[in-house]
Amino acid sequence: MRATIEDRVKALVRRMAGAAVCDECITDRLDLSSVAQTAVVTLAASGGDGFERLRAPCTLCARDKPVIRHKA
Ligand SMILES: [Zn+2]
Repeated sequence: MRATIEDRVKALVRRMAGAAVCDECITDRLDLSSVAQTAVVTLAASGGDGFERLRAPCTLCARDKPVIRHKA
């Protein structure tokens, strides 16, 4: 069975081990079709299960924007 987009996004954020990443970089890394698709997942994930959404520099593109990270 294929992993859902939600599973893939969460797995990527966990692999970043606390480093913050933006929706655009997640979309790019996972080769997803749209940033909006990624945003739905990151918004839903924030606040639960160690995921935190905040405005900070993205680890991958270095731009200051809404990012998500996972606190182990
Ligand atoms: Zn980025």
